[in-house]
Amino acid sequence: MSHATAQNPVDPKDILIEDPSETDCNVCGKQCPSKQCLERHMCLVHNGYCDVCNQRIDNEDAEAHGLKHNGLKPVQCDTCFKLFSSRSGFVNHVTKDLMCLLCNKTFTVTSRAKHLRLHNMRLHYI
Ligand SMILES: [Zn+2]
Ligand SMILES: [Zn+2]
Ligand SMILES: [Zn+2]
Ligand SMILES: [Zn+2]
Repeated sequence: MSHATAQNPVDPKDILIEDPSETDCNVCGKQCPSKQCLERHMCLVHNGYCDVCNQRIDNEDAEAHGLKHNGLKPVQCDTCFKLFSSRSGFVNHVTKDLMCLLCNKTFTVTSRAKHLRLHNMRLHYI
């Protein structure tokens, strides 16, 4: 007879919620797909500052400026004009963040499994 193994007190699926923070731009009302995208949108489009070349682009069109950084990056986000070398990089960029109710950290859907593993390990010791 073996004694009961520690029960997992929380279903891993229940500790993750979509990050409720607002991702709509409060200046132009554009709906940004993720917080990451909103931050860049604010920076480039409304503050006229490009964090890729670290300079102001006051007199330039944000979309056109984004294309200056294209190099080998054929995919452009139409919300914040960031460029990506691959479709998967772009998908990662527009993926909504998740928030973990256990540690209040936010992370992307792609790192979800990794984050859950972290807690599953810890939960056994609670
Ligand atoms: Zn905006
Ligand atoms: Zn974007
Ligand atoms: Zn730039
Ligand atoms: Zn967590």
